[in-house]
Amino acid sequence: MEKVVILGSGIAGLTAAVYTARADLAPLVIGGPEEGGQLTLTTKVENFPGFPQGIDGPQLIMDTKEQAQKFGAKFITGAVKKLEEKKGKIIMTLDQGNKIETETAIIATGASARWLGIPSEEKYKGRGISTCATCDGALYKNKEVLVIGGGDSAMEESNFLSKFASKVTVVHRRDEFKASKIMQDRFFANKKCSVLWNKEVYEVIGDGKRITGTKLKDTITKKMTEIKTEGIFLAIGHVPNTTMFKDILEMDEQGYLKVDSRLMTKVKGVFAAGDVQDRKYRQAVTAAGSGCAAAIEAGRYLQDKE
Ligand code: NDP
Repeated sequence: MEKVVILGSGIAGLTAAVYTARADLAPLVIGGPEEGGQLTLTTKVENFPGFPQGIDGPQLIMDTKEQAQKFGAKFITGAVKKLEEKKGKIIMTLDQGNKIETETAIIATGASARWLGIPSEEKYKGRGISTCATCDGALYKNKEVLVIGGGDSAMEESNFLSKFASKVTVVHRRDEFKASKIMQDRFFANKKCSVLWNKEVYEVIGDGKRITGTKLKDTITKKMTEIKTEGIFLAIGHVPNTTMFKDILEMDEQGYLKVDSRLMTKVKGVFAAGDVQDRKYRQAVTAAGSGCAAAIEAGRYLQDKE
């Protein structure tokens, strides 16, 4: 039986791995379908303390993984389908059907990009609609693209896309951005970027193979307009990856795991860290911080059990 199993290999899970490995608990990290988490989908992280020039997101993840391995963390890949508790043992079933038993678990399964949820979007996923500018931006050299959303992600994605695209138009459902001032300033200073206020995507239009445009609905006048575009990048937030825990763990109405002040869920020995339990801050550094805290609490829990 394992002492600590960490679900998720984003910055929260990896930080928990560094701490539990250094505490000699030989953690097993299960990297899920989006290995490395959201930082692997970003470019430069400018607000992680200790890097005045910024640090490349994927590099930060690779370095933290190496650090955890150096202290004895073990890594496997797999998606957890079920979590059970039986007589003080925590049992996880992975997608390949294999079961893993552990004394403690740290859930750091993060959050995934939110989609609009309209029927035409499903048809063109990956064929003009993307949730990752870092992954797909280079495909839009000299093309006109739309970015949907009004938060920091929308600003960051727009600035990144402007390196390739001839024009980047942000479509936002209100008349002011939610994004931080520094990100907005950069956006408005970028000559390739502009915004359409009070509009939401009503329908994605395509030729059967790829998207060719979109129908936008004005959120105030309800008037429809049609615009041509070859790429739509969604930056409308994230949803926590918790559906596999719904039968056993408590969560709020948006699916964020509920934890106590020790980051423990209602199941003894099961902790949570990172975006999966944080609807408020959702920063790389707060995810890392909660990974550290969950690791220390898991260690204390094991000690108290002895
Ligand atoms: P946010 O939740 O902050 O913003 C989501 C945006 O999408 C909002 O403007 C929201 O509109 C809009 N939106 C949500 N749902 C829909 C919908 N169905 N249709 C149309 N628009 C929709 O998510 P982000 O991903 O931008 O940011 C998440 C966190 O990550 C934040 O804490 C942010 O600060 C952080 N972050 C930090 C970065 C940095 O510092 N470098 C970079 C990127 C993210 P409305 O405003 O009307 O609610």
